[in-house]
Amino acid sequence: MGSYVYDFAEGGRDMADLLGGKGANLAEMARMGLPVPPGFTITTEACRVFLATGELPAGLDREVVEHLAALERAAGKRLGQVDDPLLLSVRSGARFSMPGMMETILDIGLNDLSVLGLAKIPDRERFAWDSYRRLVQMFGSTVMGVDGSLFEDVLRRVKDQHRVEDDSHLDVCDLMRIVEMFKDLILERTGSAFPQDPTEQLRQAILAVFASWNGERARLYRRREHIPDGLGTAVNIQCMVFGNLGSDSGSGVAFTRDPATGRPGLYGDYLPNAQGEDVVSGVRDAVPLQELATLDPVSFARLRGYMGQLETHYRDLCDIEFTIEHGVLWMLQTRVGKRTAQAAFSIASQLADEGLISTDEALARVDGDMLARLMFPRFDTGVAAPVLTRGIPASPGAAVGVVVFDSGEAVRRAAAGEEVVLVRQETTPDDLPGMIAAQAVLTSRGGKTSHAAVVARGMGKVCVCGADALAIDLGARRFSVGDVVVSEGETISVDGFEGFVRLGAVPLVDSAVMSYFEAGSPAPDAAVQEGVPEVHRLMEHADATRRLGVRANADTPQDAARARRFGAEGIGLCRTEHMFLGARRPLVEAMILAPTENDREVALAALLPLQREDFTGILAAMDGLPVTIRLLDPPLHEFLPDRTDLAVRLARDEALGRTQDPRDTELLAAVTRMHEENPMLGLRGVRLGLVKRGLVAMQVRAIAEAVVARKRAGGDPRAEIMVPLVGAVEELHLVRQEVEEVLSTVARETGVPVTCPIGTMIELPRAALTAGRIASRAEFFSFGTNDLTQTTWGFSRDDVEAEFFAAYLDKGIFETSPFETIDREGVGRLVEIAVREGRAARPDLNIGVCGEHGGDPSSVHFFHEAGLDYVSCSPFRVPVARLEAGRAAL
Ligand code: PEP
Ligand code: MG
Repeated sequence: MGSYVYDFAEGGRDMADLLGGKGANLAEMARMGLPVPPGFTITTEACRVFLATGELPAGLDREVVEHLAALERAAGKRLGQVDDPLLLSVRSGARFSMPGMMETILDIGLNDLSVLGLAKIPDRERFAWDSYRRLVQMFGSTVMGVDGSLFEDVLRRVKDQHRVEDDSHLDVCDLMRIVEMFKDLILERTGSAFPQDPTEQLRQAILAVFASWNGERARLYRRREHIPDGLGTAVNIQCMVFGNLGSDSGSGVAFTRDPATGRPGLYGDYLPNAQGEDVVSGVRDAVPLQELATLDPVSFARLRGYMGQLETHYRDLCDIEFTIEHGVLWMLQTRVGKRTAQAAFSIASQLADEGLISTDEALARVDGDMLARLMFPRFDTGVAAPVLTRGIPASPGAAVGVVVFDSGEAVRRAAAGEEVVLVRQETTPDDLPGMIAAQAVLTSRGGKTSHAAVVARGMGKVCVCGADALAIDLGARRFSVGDVVVSEGETISVDGFEGFVRLGAVPLVDSAVMSYFEAGSPAPDAAVQEGVPEVHRLMEHADATRRLGVRANADTPQDAARARRFGAEGIGLCRTEHMFLGARRPLVEAMILAPTENDREVALAALLPLQREDFTGILAAMDGLPVTIRLLDPPLHEFLPDRTDLAVRLARDEALGRTQDPRDTELLAAVTRMHEENPMLGLRGVRLGLVKRGLVAMQVRAIAEAVVARKRAGGDPRAEIMVPLVGAVEELHLVRQEVEEVLSTVARETGVPVTCPIGTMIELPRAALTAGRIASRAEFFSFGTNDLTQTTWGFSRDDVEAEFFAAYLDKGIFETSPFETIDREGVGRLVEIAVREGRAARPDLNIGVCGEHGGDPSSVHFFHEAGLDYVSCSPFRVPVARLEAGRAAL
């Protein structure tokens, strides 16, 4: 059995799985010789044993005692000793940062005796009793489970008695009284006394941290961030240092570059005479880190040195927590810092310029989700909307929503389909559900490192914090700025780029990155401030690196042209059904309802020139690039009116004694005749082509004539014809014969050769499993992963998302919807089989994917690994797919 406890001197940054991020990085800093208060880490393995058995692993207690003894020797103090006792902090620290989601207990080691010892040190009497008060309160609520508000009530009562507002105005006698009242409260509520034995305090605190892994907010956060539930947290036990010992002490947070924009420099907040938690919680407003240069130049110079050292060592933006105790600087934490999407591109690119990382590594450090965020719109600055107030722009983006004042209301309104902005004085981890539900978070207190800012940045939500002109009246559910009063439910616009808050809904315009893609220009010029050059640089590298081609799903010339500007190398799916809607519906109806062959031919003949025009436009927009046109796929009744609507209309006419429209009667009869219980498994796709005579011929003729028209116009049309929903090679064989016949007829009629590759979608499990045979009749495959997911799982793609997927996600059956990210194990296996057997039968088989997964970052990596030739996705996802295809090839 391995050890469950590691001294900081024994660990390192590569041990984050075992020691958690915080523990591994503390060990790394200790190893680098930075001043880290001594401590040790209990491993995530111990947590996993606890989560599985409900007990601490055998031998852990003994190991903790041994490490504690070593710590006491190093510190020259003992836990619980009656004069100047050793005090410990006990903090969670998982593999992936989960800010504020789990428990922390400070000042372990104080009890009725040691508090007296601490109080005897000159100038420490009040500090000792305040620390003891904090410990009993924190321990009582987080470890012993007493409702935290009961402690707050006691505190408020005492403050009211003395008519004081702030804790700092309470004197030693008050604090002593409060400690007694807190202890009574714990005994009364739990039946157990606050433990006086410091080792017992430590043991219980460790258990509480482990248990907090499964706390509600931690679980919610993990689900949202896709952090696996089975990892567990480590526990870091460390000698306390104090930033609240007077004006020569303080706590701060520092970033080696600006986490919002990525600009190099010195960023952070410093709070004199305060503990670390005070900075992060935003309860008191911090000063910019630069002011430390005048407050404590020696510590400032040291800190700057360490920051440089850390950034070079980690080769990335680091965020740092530090404390100064009586002029001595201590490093309490570092990690590779969270950043906005814009900062991620900027920093990766800068570090590559600085030679600290390679361009490949720079590409690995950005991703498609970040790029998608940079493509979101921003507010139209040309619209004069008066500014209500301004705060600190902590997480960029433009958000419009109605004001809500608490997490519950945010969740309720968002569930009802409203876009909301959560407005709080400051946020706490309890606000997490509301932050997830909201478009933006606006706070009146706290800086760039406040809870609201850190969490919103991590989630990619818009956040403006520290808007101190905002006076929130929670009782009346409104806030005011000067004379302007804004009530719950009113709409505001929050600009996370500039920090402005405006009344009403300000219109949106394209972001600079979006404009860059829209321009389709190789060299970005303006908008340097929005990171366009960095995006350009990394996109170029992705394009040079990727093996996968990227096409778009588009069925209008406009979409095709945009996709091309965005870098699409062709169309992977042109859905022809979209061309059967709108003004053409009557023609389609006539075709479907045609009583005789002749009538149907007339209707089809009317549709033919329209389809030809559609295809000609698209082939022109994609001149020289492949355009995969899919034959009609959906069940025909989708083009007819709804059966219930029709029945109601006819019944109403009858009830009102009106004459019924004979067309309605005819339509109802047809719709009823064509009704299917499971239309997605019914008469659609290739089946339609096989039983509805003339349909395939009309569509293929339109394609062929469009090719001829483009060739005659001097173009280079590259149409490909794709057959949907094939399950058996025989189906494809029959349709293919008809397609080939029409192509050669048109070639004969026009004297222009028309050769189009003919291929099929692979979107049924049977097609994947018989891909070898199907490939004998197909020049290309395109995976329709929407239908393939639907038919493999047996989930209706139109119904499931709303109802039971939430429960499935909650229960961990899957981490993301299989309609969003490809299910590698099941659907992915079918893809792999089809690729292997298809290529074995036809080595030059061209293979792509055109389901929604083609634009999903994680799925793109899968398709790369599976050996596909290209992915195809909606035009707006094309840049994301290009970037991810590049990353997949690294
Ligand atoms: C698919 O099934 O994945 C596909 C692309 O076709 P559609 O979404 O049109 O059914
Ligand atoms: Mg499909």
